[in-house]
Amino acid sequence: MFNVDSGKSSSNKKKFHKINLGIRQTVLERARYRCQGCSTKFNTQETPFFAHINGSLKDNSPANLKALCNKCYIKTGENKIKDNMMGKIRSLIRRVV
Ligand SMILES: [Zn+2]
Repeated sequence: MFNVDSGKSSSNKKKFHKINLGIRQTVLERARYRCQGCSTKFNTQETPFFAHINGSLKDNSPANLKALCNKCYIKTGENKIKDNMMGKIRSLIRRVV
């Protein structure tokens, strides 16, 4: 199949914390630049969102990500999880300040 990292990867086993450009590219190419929920083709108006298949937002490996349009992404509820986390962080900051 495709050769993502040629060499060097064995000693450098990093976990994927951020969805970087390379990961986006891999996921989008696998999805053929279409939403994996409703098959809408991505373009400048329809930008891809990345949902986590196993539900772990920390696992940003390409195998755990699927490309979705905005509508399908909202259906996963992941944006709410992120909003909740941000809300918690904000309320924590408020308490400290
Ligand atoms: Zn969709």
